[in-house]
Amino acid sequence: MAQDYRILLYYKYVTIDDPETFTKEHRAFCQELGVKGRILISSEGLNGTISGTVEQTDRYMKALREDPRFHDIEFKIDEADGHAFKKLSVRHRKEIVALKLEEDVNPNEVTGRYLEPKEFYEALQEDDVIVIDARNDYETQIGHFRGAILPDIRSFRELPEWVDKHLADKKDKKILTYCTGGIRCEKFTAYLIKKGFKDVNQLHGGIIRYGKDPEVRGRLFDGKCYVFDNRIRVRVNRTEEDVVVGRCYHCGKPEDRLVNCANPECHRQYISCEACERKYQRSCSKACREHPRNEYVRTEDPVLSTR
Ligand SMILES: [Zn+2]
Ligand SMILES: [Zn+2]
Repeated sequence: MAQDYRILLYYKYVTIDDPETFTKEHRAFCQELGVKGRILISSEGLNGTISGTVEQTDRYMKALREDPRFHDIEFKIDEADGHAFKKLSVRHRKEIVALKLEEDVNPNEVTGRYLEPKEFYEALQEDDVIVIDARNDYETQIGHFRGAILPDIRSFRELPEWVDKHLADKKDKKILTYCTGGIRCEKFTAYLIKKGFKDVNQLHGGIIRYGKDPEVRGRLFDGKCYVFDNRIRVRVNRTEEDVVVGRCYHCGKPEDRLVNCANPECHRQYISCEACERKYQRSCSKACREHPRNEYVRTEDPVLSTR
């Protein structure tokens, strides 16, 4: 099949003096170009993931690199058969990844040591290292590095409190952190350093770049990597070790299929096999299943229609 499209993942922490104006201009440029996806802009930088044809994405990358602020921005590029997003959203935000600290940290001033994929792979195998997955629970449950600590958080801004609660006595240990594309670790490692952790390291370019490294080939990553586009999950480990690490929330069998709870007030993302999705009407609890506005379509349900 022709791979005429691409998906780009990229970010840059850099001071943007008038982010509102830049957001408007950047939105107009993206609309004219015809790319789709999600881009966040703030005074601290830019965070984006878009899809488009090879030509559109080439023009996008060239234009962004011509701006001196983004001359060295790194793009993680995946080939695709079509757009990975339904629409375009270019928004101005206070932070390009919301950690919402009382006292914000600037990764351009302080951040953890960058480890390239090979260095990270080697560090993973050292004795006495602490590996922290900086992502949310619905991401980590379908795949993660072997031996990593998986914080039970639903959003990134819960991570600082989780650290304070669980890692306060680990400040002298060697810490490794990782996330999808690297952006969350920039701020997260800055936070750790500020809290007194002494040996803080982050995977440069995140899981996505790690999976593309021709030498490491995703080794020691088990399961799939959650992505924020319509692919939902992508393969990382390109060796024979590729496995399913997720478990159906209801029945416990190996599965990495994510669904959104049909209760519109919950919408929690969780793993469910197809049989349990029908059986439990795509709901994560009894209360969600019985919610008056539950969105699960009963008529499509062969199990229930026989009752
Ligand atoms: Zn199941
Ligand atoms: Zn629910």
